[in-house]
Amino acid sequence: MSYSKSTLSKAAQKLESRRSKAQRIQMARHLEVTEKLPIISKYENQLSETGLSVVKAIGMGSDAQEYIKQLSELNLAVQDKIKSLLKENGYPEDYLEVPYTCKNCSDTGYKGGYVCECRKELLRQLAKEELASVSESEKCRFDNFDLNYYPQPIDSVLGVSPQRRMSDILEYCKCYAEDFDTESESLYMHGATGLGKTHLSLAIANVVAENGYRVIYDTAQNILSSLEKEKFSYSGSSERENEILDCDLLIIDDLGSEFSTQFTVAAIYNIVNTRINRSKPVIISTNLTESELEAKYTQRITSRIIGNYVSLLFLGKDIRQLKNAF
Ligand SMILES: [Zn+2]
Repeated sequence: MSYSKSTLSKAAQKLESRRSKAQRIQMARHLEVTEKLPIISKYENQLSETGLSVVKAIGMGSDAQEYIKQLSELNLAVQDKIKSLLKENGYPEDYLEVPYTCKNCSDTGYKGGYVCECRKELLRQLAKEELASVSESEKCRFDNFDLNYYPQPIDSVLGVSPQRRMSDILEYCKCYAEDFDTESESLYMHGATGLGKTHLSLAIANVVAENGYRVIYDTAQNILSSLEKEKFSYSGSSERENEILDCDLLIIDDLGSEFSTQFTVAAIYNIVNTRINRSKPVIISTNLTESELEAKYTQRITSRIIGNYVSLLFLGKDIRQLKNAF
């Protein structure tokens, strides 16, 4: 599992703000209660005195244990007094405790050296939001992929029913998403425009990100222009490039629609090759045929993709046109 720097720092900020908000609420409640019930301050002084006595008692040797036991009983009795006082005055018993969102880790994100579940959940949530910010990923799910748009009769040229084939592809993609791990294979989704390649690659992205993997999804055009910007910037940073080469699943949508230059050809080769060498999965979708891809991205790149990726050929009529017709 890996997350981008921005997701990690957003999670840290979020936990920090939960923590300070909870502490602020507690301070305000404390002011309110001690103004109304000043005796609570007296009890609190008693609590801090017993606390100090415990610290002193640690140096007392063998008698310490009994003494500490007495102190903690006293302490509990005072706490009970505070609780009943709060209750009598219409407050909840725990009104003066800091209302952390996660009681387990007090909103620090860690407990006993381990990452708390709340931090894991927060990271998953933020990664999903990040995905949604570059695409309409939320709308593209497996359960709303409609096979009815694909013709049922056997295509005379291809000898298969497009609907049947797409049903198999849908099933394969579901299994791929659910079983995804960092050693999953790469996918090469190809076929004419408007056949649901983006829909299925985003449906995979959603499930994989939900399972806690770091997914980057974007169009080839956006990926390439962000790399180009980084390459020619003065900062010398290669943060975006590292993320693209290192994330658990990289999805490059609509390869071939961008304007190709010497830079884009080299960048795509670098991505494809580096991720194959690192055994990291990629999903590439393209409307281009194999020979069009070769013409645009050289035979060297095309054969790396075709030789190493699982090929999924999408069939049917342009769904977007069909949908618009209704
Ligand atoms: Zn927690």
